[in-house]
Amino acid sequence: MNKMTRRTFLGAGAAAATVAMGLGKAKATAQPSPTIRIAQADRVVNLYSSRHYDTDNALYEGFRAETGIQVNLIEAEADPLIERIKSEGANSPADVLMTVDAGRLWRAEQEGLFQPVNSQVLNQAIPSSLRHPNGMWFGFSKRARVIMYDTSKVNPADLSTYEALTDPQWQGQILTRSSTNIYNVSLVSSLIEVHGAPETETWVRGLVANFARPPEGNDTAQIQACAAGVGSLAIANSYYLIRLAKSDNPADREVAEKVSIFFPNQRDRGTHVNISGAGVVRTAKNQEAAIRFLEYLAGPEAQAIFANGNNEYPVVEGVPLDPVLASYGSFKSDPMNASVFGKNSAEALRITDRAGWT
Ligand code: FE
Repeated sequence: MNKMTRRTFLGAGAAAATVAMGLGKAKATAQPSPTIRIAQADRVVNLYSSRHYDTDNALYEGFRAETGIQVNLIEAEADPLIERIKSEGANSPADVLMTVDAGRLWRAEQEGLFQPVNSQVLNQAIPSSLRHPNGMWFGFSKRARVIMYDTSKVNPADLSTYEALTDPQWQGQILTRSSTNIYNVSLVSSLIEVHGAPETETWVRGLVANFARPPEGNDTAQIQACAAGVGSLAIANSYYLIRLAKSDNPADREVAEKVSIFFPNQRDRGTHVNISGAGVVRTAKNQEAAIRFLEYLAGPEAQAIFANGNNEYPVVEGVPLDPVLASYGSFKSDPMNASVFGKNSAEALRITDRAGWT
């Protein structure tokens, strides 16, 4: 059964590759490119992705137009994809694994699923804090975990840092989701790196003391509760507000109009950022094409599409921002390497559990 499935899968890829090769050759005549030297087996890339954005199809099309290489997409949530690659073992058809949080890339790396990639294109285009030190994975877009505030109640001049959210002036005001959510795990992990575990635990206790309610719902729910007056500050990822601001639903846009973004820690290390990223699977059969795909994602055109797919920030300097995203202003990012978020994650979970952040 397993074999059959795989043969069918690869068969479909090969058929697509035949078509794609025709396109590749036509292009190669006009403009010689190193991609024509990619072996027959490398005319496809099997991509396991936990991104669910329709705009990503434009990336696969763009990549095929440029290289003649077909992207075969398998979509699922990150953890099931990681489990699937593990259980497929050496026979896994996966060439690239793409996820939407550095914590999950870290998990995949810890499971030994990635191979190191040393690409000048990637190393030059992507800031070192947004890729694995040994090239196990690379970030292709970033999101900021910001403080959102009710513009009718909060003077942004009263806001400064994540650390200052424990100030008694915010008692009963702070909205955030569960501490076990990977976005909060990564934020707490970054604080552990800066302040150490004991001080971070004190901070978490102070934060919990200022909660508007016990954590419930996702980031969008925190923004909605902020607009509804349940609290006046929400810790959430930047793109959730942009999504509401761009929504076709007038009720969403009304929520977005009541809330704005404050980028914390601008006077010290910068705002906590996380990434969407990808790495080449250790057992990849189409290794060259896989690397070529990652390099394509770091190009200016792909960067804009990749980032806009989820209203995120491109990782490459000089790529224009989506106008709605740009309207919230620019900011300094914390340059802490994203691999730290995974490294400190177990400690972060222990601290939040002890400190009563449910
Ligand atoms: Fe999200």
